[in-house]
Amino acid sequence: MKSRFRIDKTHYEIAAKSTIRKALAFLKKTDLEPPYLLIDTSMVKKKVRSIGKNIRNSRVFYAVKANPDIEILKLIDKLGLGFEIASEGELGILASIGVKPARIITSNPIKSFRFLRMAAEYGLPHFAFDSKDEVRKLREYVPGCSVYVRLSVPNEGSEWPLSKKFAVELEDAEELLLYAKKKGLNPVGITFHVGSQCTNIYNWNSALDKAKILWDRMEKRGIRLSVLNIGGGYPIRYTKSVVDIPSIDKNVNSLIYEKFPRNIKVFIEPGRAVVGDAGIFVSRVLGKAWRGDEEWLYIDVGVFNGLMESVGGIKYKYIVEGHSQIKKWTLAGPSCDSFDVIDKDVLLPEPPIGARVLILSSGAYTISYASEFNGFSIPKTILI
Ligand SMILES: *Cc1c(COP(=O)(O)O)cnc(C)c1O
Repeated sequence: MKSRFRIDKTHYEIAAKSTIRKALAFLKKTDLEPPYLLIDTSMVKKKVRSIGKNIRNSRVFYAVKANPDIEILKLIDKLGLGFEIASEGELGILASIGVKPARIITSNPIKSFRFLRMAAEYGLPHFAFDSKDEVRKLREYVPGCSVYVRLSVPNEGSEWPLSKKFAVELEDAEELLLYAKKKGLNPVGITFHVGSQCTNIYNWNSALDKAKILWDRMEKRGIRLSVLNIGGGYPIRYTKSVVDIPSIDKNVNSLIYEKFPRNIKVFIEPGRAVVGDAGIFVSRVLGKAWRGDEEWLYIDVGVFNGLMESVGGIKYKYIVEGHSQIKKWTLAGPSCDSFDVIDKDVLLPEPPIGARVLILSSGAYTISYASEFNGFSIPKTILI
C-alpha cells in the first residue's frame, strides 16, 4: 500500500531510511494521540558506537541536557557511556538509575549551591570552572576535587554558539589553574566547547592549538595536566549536509597525537549527535489560515513545547500526510503567543486538518526545552 505520507529522497538524506521506516511502522499500529517524540534506539546505538571511536584514550560522557528522558539515559548507561551534567535535577535522575559517580562529570562552570551540595555527597570527581569565585565555592563544598578550566575558543560556524556565556582567555585560565591549586583543589586539565551544531571542522583545530599553549604554560609553572576535555559540538543533519563524525574525530585524534603527551585522558561530551537524528516528532495539523499574504499552518508542536531551537535558527525538515499541491507555509505552534512561530517559507504539500506531520532530526534540545506554557502538555518520548 502506498504510504499516505509524502516521502522523497531528500527526507532520506536527513533521517536514515531505517529510522523513518520504523516511525511509519509505529504509526501504523498505534492510536496514540500526538504530539510525541519517537526515538530510534538503533540509531542512538549507532551514534554511540561511532563517537570517540577514532580518538585514542577517549571517554565519552553524554550531555544529559540534550535529552534527559529516563529511558534514553538507561539505554546510554547500558551502552557504557558516562554522563555530563549541570544540575541537581540531572544528578537526581542519574542517581535514580544507579549511575556510579566516577562516570559523571560536570562541565557547567558556574554551579548552583544545591547542586554542589548534592554532587559532594554523591562523590562526583570532576568539575569545570572559570572564575576564582567558583574555586572558592568548590573548596567549600567539595574540597580537594579535580577541576578543569573552561578555555574560550572560537565558535564561528556553530549554529548554537556557547562561547559568550562561559570561558576565559589564556592568561586568566593559567592564573585560575594556579589559584585552584593554591586553594587545595586538584587542577587536572582544560575544557572547551566549539559551539553546538558546529559545522566548521577548523574550530577544533583552533581550540586544540589554544589548549596546547595553555597546557605547555602550565607545565612551565609546575602543573602537569592530564585531562583534555574537548566538549561537544558534533553536528547532525537538519537540512544541509554536515561534516561526519569520523572525519571530525580523525582530525581531532591526529591533532592531539601531534601536540599533547601520549598518556593524556581525552573526555568528549556529545549531546546533540547522540540523540538528535534518532528523533522524529509526530504532530498533527490543527488549523490553516490566510493572513495578509501568508498562508499559515498550525501544528500541535511549537516553540514552547518542543521546537524552541527554531527561534535560534535551527530549521527542521518535515514529512506530511497528504499528497496535494506544494505550497509555501508559515508554520506555527499551538499556543496563543505570537512568538510561537516555528518557521517561514516552508514548502510542503497541503495537508488536511488532522493530518500528521513528522519533524525529522528532532531528538535533541526539544523535549528538554519544552514547557507546559498555555496548558499544552510536554510531549512524551517513546523509544522504538
Ligand atoms: C551542552 C553542552 C555539551 C553538549 O553539546 P552538544 O553540542 O549537544 O554536543 C557538552 N558540554 C557542555 C559543557 C555543554 O554545555
